[in-house]
Amino acid sequence: MIYLDSNATTQVHPDVLAAMLPYLTDQCYNPSSGYRAGKAVKKAIERAREQVAKLVGADPEEIVFTGCGTESNNAALFSLANAVGNRKRIITSQIEHSSILRVCEQLEGRGYTVERVGVDESGRLDLEAWKEAVGQEDAGFATLMWANNETGVLQPIAEAAALAKAAGIPFHSDAIQAVGKTAIDLRQLPVDYLSISGHKFHAPKGVGALYVNKNVAFEPLLFGGGQEAGRRSGTENVASIIAMGKAAEMMQLRLDADGHAGVASLRDHFEQRLMAEVDGVLVNGSKEFRTKNTAHLAFENCEAAGLLILLDEYGMACSAGSACMTGKQKPSHVQTAMGYSAKRAKSSLRISFSILSTLEETNDAVEMVKKAVRKLRSVQGFTGVGPVTVYT
Ligand code: PLP
Repeated sequence: MIYLDSNATTQVHPDVLAAMLPYLTDQCYNPSSGYRAGKAVKKAIERAREQVAKLVGADPEEIVFTGCGTESNNAALFSLANAVGNRKRIITSQIEHSSILRVCEQLEGRGYTVERVGVDESGRLDLEAWKEAVGQEDAGFATLMWANNETGVLQPIAEAAALAKAAGIPFHSDAIQAVGKTAIDLRQLPVDYLSISGHKFHAPKGVGALYVNKNVAFEPLLFGGGQEAGRRSGTENVASIIAMGKAAEMMQLRLDADGHAGVASLRDHFEQRLMAEVDGVLVNGSKEFRTKNTAHLAFENCEAAGLLILLDEYGMACSAGSACMTGKQKPSHVQTAMGYSAKRAKSSLRISFSILSTLEETNDAVEMVKKAVRKLRSVQGFTGVGPVTVYT
């Protein structure tokens, strides 16, 4: 199968698997154990902490390992919410992942007000509206995703964080779709908390991290044995933490070497071929500001649901919107926020590449998409002639 759904999850990289395996077998010790073998495992965790910290420009003690990206987001938001006192207004965007949106809804149920700032048609935050929102007297904290999981569009994080800082409120970013794919240097930015998830960059599922700036407070979500310097209790998922460290180091080397250009060239090749060879293909969102692995395309007069079934049959995996939204009838909240019609939203596919994708697969994927589009349009009556209608 051709796997082009890397924003949903990625394969554990063979080098990452090799690094983690000993910690499932002969190095299976509990890192809290007092004997030397346990201490060696603890040391390996600290090495992984350094690797993850380096990838985002943090100090190792600012990294807290968690059970997944969702936990990182929950931990950050509940900690922030508990600290706001009377300033119960939370500022976020309309395009967040469900692990932010649902927490915000929970907090609304507990008496907080949530302000969801919109985006323009390129999928980027409305900075004027953001400035106004964070500047309100009762604003307690702000949270904005770094890169959108559906479109890959990168948000103006430096500007949004600076505005939050100027307004005197803490700033969190869900950077789960950005870490490892785009350069992040937290030394240069007023970001207080940042969420990371291992399985988006070739570590296993079920491990994440939360960056907590050393100058800000943090109240844990989980209490117990006091692991992670008391910030996240629970026996560490050692092998997965080691894996995430190795994956972070690997992605760092690639970002330093070519800024993820290899992945970008496959995505661009895929996109350019489809746009040249198929009528009525549109890129959704900013082409300038997006992660290098993601193509989000609308296929005029083609229901994405039908395309996905055909592509699955041909042996290609991708998705419409996010993995979490698959199977839902409603058009994506992200594309709705961008002002797209339900029709456009429902004819859009997300194709996401990784460092394990190949040119051969990319070319095969183009042929499969062409075949699926042709087939659907022959049923649905697309003529393929005349100017492309840019539907809104
Ligand atoms: N935030 C974003 C932007 C995501 O894309 C995802 C995963 O799809 C998550 C949060 C949740 O991460 P995890 O699957 O590790 O819980």
